[in-house]
Amino acid sequence: MSQKFAGVKGMNDLLPPQIATWQRIEGIARNLFGNYGFSEVRTPVAEDTALFVRSVGEVTDIVKKEMYTFDDKGGRSLTLRPEGTAPAVRAYVEHGVAATEPLTRWFYLGPMFRYERMKTGRYRQFYQLGAEVWGSADAATDVELISLCHAYLQAIGVPEVVLHLNSLGDEASRPAYQETLRAHFQPFLAAMSEDARGTLERNPMRLLDSKEEALQAAIASAPALLEVIDDASRAHFDQVRRLLDALGIAYVIDPKLVRGLDYYVRTTFEFIYQPRSGENALGTAGTVCGGGRYDGLVKGLGGPDKPGVGFAMGLDRLAMLVGALGQGRAGGPQLFVGTFDGPLRETAIALVMRLRNQGLMVDFDPRGGKLGRQNERADKVGARYFAVYGQDEHARGVLRLKDLTLPRDTPDDHPGKYQDVPVEQLASWLLTRKEGPP
Ligand code: AMP
Repeated sequence: MSQKFAGVKGMNDLLPPQIATWQRIEGIARNLFGNYGFSEVRTPVAEDTALFVRSVGEVTDIVKKEMYTFDDKGGRSLTLRPEGTAPAVRAYVEHGVAATEPLTRWFYLGPMFRYERMKTGRYRQFYQLGAEVWGSADAATDVELISLCHAYLQAIGVPEVVLHLNSLGDEASRPAYQETLRAHFQPFLAAMSEDARGTLERNPMRLLDSKEEALQAAIASAPALLEVIDDASRAHFDQVRRLLDALGIAYVIDPKLVRGLDYYVRTTFEFIYQPRSGENALGTAGTVCGGGRYDGLVKGLGGPDKPGVGFAMGLDRLAMLVGALGQGRAGGPQLFVGTFDGPLRETAIALVMRLRNQGLMVDFDPRGGKLGRQNERADKVGARYFAVYGQDEHARGVLRLKDLTLPRDTPDDHPGKYQDVPVEQLASWLLTRKEGPP
């Protein structure tokens, strides 16, 4: 008896050809993040549940509603990581990294899990590319991270983003502001949801990024935290702005940008996709990157008193944009070798394997069959050249390459449509014509 299964809701398969887009943007990340001095870390997908409750915050949506939490066979409560900062900090502390280096720059790339309501660009398993720096409280580090995000988005071909910037001040300036906010939202209490009332009680700042309709007027008129932050945080923020100006990175100040997690202090930022024309492929899920400073977190998780700052980008959203903008097409094989049935078939197949081992992307149809069909297959997989290896080619020691990038009705005597290349020189000849995305 057979039984058919579907994937878990909100958890996507990444299949060819779209996977090529992912590989491309991941490859660019590894290069660029390396240039900025970041080393990759890989932490497990599951952690002690208490790690997230403690770091992300008990009253956040993530901890209250969205975590995939389960008991393992030994009765330990584990959670599939909903974000990457807490696991990275846990590893940084556990391995005593701070004792061996004063400044640490790490990046990570991998799946995160949140039981969220799904829509375009919002999934239950999604991928984040994130970076963290520990050991520098300087505004230059905030800007280094923002610059890295900015450069990365340019490099993958998503330049139409707006950088939103805010400062939350230090923890000492919070209580007074919380009180001001509570007073401000008081007259709107009756119209608020039960949930929002709870938030007002526990952490009123969180209301500032609420999407609740009844709160929008109150949010719009709320006093800005930026107006009341402490002097040192203000100086830090001014320095961030000056450095961004010096780099020519534009930004808008967004006093409502409090971000969803409890641990942020001072700088918070987001990059939001905003095409200048046409439809927004991400709809309302336009935030492609979010980050900020979290100076108390390392200490709060049992580590040394090291300041930290980081960001995470949503790769699903970026892959979708890059794909929609038509930049994600897979580079097809450079050569597709058509084979004849008979004794030369083995020679041709051996040639394909040899070229592959020499670093070339070469394909053939293992099912053999009519040459016309093999040519069609070469077209379909996006090959640059199609060549047959028959008696005549074998006798002359060449392959006759047909350029598949020319229009189908190009006459046979058109220069460049066909060219003979000696088998011995084929690899180097193809390598000099290696094309495709960087
Ligand atoms: P956050 O950790 O919530 O600040 O998210 C950082 C980035 O990850 C967001 O800006 C999104 O691009 C992406 N992201 C967050 N949640 C999801 C999700 N459920 N599905 C897809 N991408 C997400």
